[in-house]
Amino acid sequence: MLSLDRSFRLLAGTALALVAAPVFAKGAAAAPPAPADTVLLHGTIHTIDARGTTAQALAVRDGRIVYVGSDAGAAKLAGPATQTIDLKGQVVLPGLVDAHMHPLEGGLGLLACDLGYKRLTVPEFQAALAACAAADGPGHDDKVLVALHWFQQEMQPLGIEMTKAMLDALPTKRPVAVFSSFGHSALVNSRALALAGIDAKTPDPVGGAIHHDASGAPTGLLEDSAQDLVRKLVPPPSAEDELAAARAALAAMAAQGVTSFLDADAPAESVRAFAALSKQGALTARAHFAPHVAPEEGPSPEPALTRIVTLRQTYDEGPAQARPTVMVRTVKLYMDGVITAPAFTGVMLEPYFENVGTTDKPVWRQGSNRGPAPYFPPKVLAPLVERITALGFDPHMHADGDGAVRIALDAVATLKKAHPGRDVRAAIAHDEIVDPADFPRYKALGVTPVLSLQWGKQAADTVAGARDYLGPKRYAFMEPSGLLAKAGARIAFGSDWPVDPLDEWFAIKVGATRRNAPSAGPDYAQPLSGGPPLSVRQSVRAATIEAAWSLRAEQAVGSLEPGKFADLIVIDRDPFAGDPEAIAGTRVRLTMVGGKIVYTAR
Ligand SMILES: [Zn+2]
Repeated sequence: MLSLDRSFRLLAGTALALVAAPVFAKGAAAAPPAPADTVLLHGTIHTIDARGTTAQALAVRDGRIVYVGSDAGAAKLAGPATQTIDLKGQVVLPGLVDAHMHPLEGGLGLLACDLGYKRLTVPEFQAALAACAAADGPGHDDKVLVALHWFQQEMQPLGIEMTKAMLDALPTKRPVAVFSSFGHSALVNSRALALAGIDAKTPDPVGGAIHHDASGAPTGLLEDSAQDLVRKLVPPPSAEDELAAARAALAAMAAQGVTSFLDADAPAESVRAFAALSKQGALTARAHFAPHVAPEEGPSPEPALTRIVTLRQTYDEGPAQARPTVMVRTVKLYMDGVITAPAFTGVMLEPYFENVGTTDKPVWRQGSNRGPAPYFPPKVLAPLVERITALGFDPHMHADGDGAVRIALDAVATLKKAHPGRDVRAAIAHDEIVDPADFPRYKALGVTPVLSLQWGKQAADTVAGARDYLGPKRYAFMEPSGLLAKAGARIAFGSDWPVDPLDEWFAIKVGATRRNAPSAGPDYAQPLSGGPPLSVRQSVRAATIEAAWSLRAEQAVGSLEPGKFADLIVIDRDPFAGDPEAIAGTRVRLTMVGGKIVYTAR
């Protein structure tokens, strides 16, 4: 405990030193400052500092920003060995900070057959899978062809019933399993059903369903835990696969401009893979990890906490350095599941609505289902949060329904009362439904909502999957990013990749518009209700300085100010000029982390 407190003070001390570090020593007029390693000139540099300053030029030395200001000022720092980047008017932002994602899973997905979360017709769906089978080449007859990121709800025409026959028609003998991006269902072919031993007589597993046709035969569609019957046919990734996945994830992040991330449910494998890349000097983003305590571990959490402390001791690389490092300083807790159909696993203050009419003539009434019991009941959560924070970790709580959110806020309130001086940065992820009475509590308790901003739009999940089931009162507050901001909450962004695509710019644009992409079609063209959007500035801040704050990294990154690390991106448009809709199409031209260029667009 003592040593932990000390390491925290050391970290804080380092951060302060960063800010206080004199950029140009006073009284050093006689000796000009050492030349910069790199200067960027002739740009529109949005620093995202507290005043919203824009500058022309920036200079970097030893991985840190040493100057932000005019071209003339920066030019004075150029020596014979200085690399000069002429921005030619291009826009620079701080590197993006993604405060909630699942990078190992995302990376593994990049290496698998990827359906890309797209709206597809059946022929398009089949063509994509056939292409994956062809890409693997011959000789894999018994290896399951796994396809990911299938946007099941958006199959065209909407509502079409997907069956094994559509997969049996593919030009491959292989077992095929297609997993939905929402994680709740899989479509498999006849060969996979046979290998998994699923037939007309197989009972539904607990927490899952096997769909059957009129004759009783399985249709190939497996829901929730029934997916595990097929998943077990797929061998787990090897350590080599995991390294390749971590590399692929980092490359995808660099291309998006992500320079810091939080793995918001970090298995040991993830920490290990990214730590191995750090050792090789191949880590290209600052890597934060939140191992989780499982609900069943909650009542006696010491073994889980010991496991997490060991991960920190083994892999955390200590105070931030110019080069990206591994940090294990957060603990993840799942308070509930997801509020939307067909899961209804959000913990709700009031019951979900149910259709007591017919499909054609629906009659929606409040039913009796409030979702599951909270995964951590209040009596378990409060002491757990106390222990987590006593060990020097920040809690990152997944809470999607208003009931789960309230319990999470209550646990932080209890902690603040018992330990008013404890430095805690609690985060609540997702927050799709929050009771308005709880809006001001985020600010009052210093809790950061970490929002998947791209969810705040009309789409199959927020309209068909939520509107009627929530009822009008709650639907009016769905995805309350702007309302929380108005109530003073510090809004941070997390993409939740690969639950959603790694598309930070689309998310920033949805944050500022609450509108879907035009390609979503006329059904989803309106802004989502649920209050005002964020301003563009709030949305950009959510993905930079506010996300950095939630990771205790705001003294080191998240804005472009002297003393901070040179984590920055050059992009092809100005988010603060013109139509916010255009932000979605932003292309990153260059990504720099700690003064090193880690990505250049071709
Ligand atoms: Zn997540």
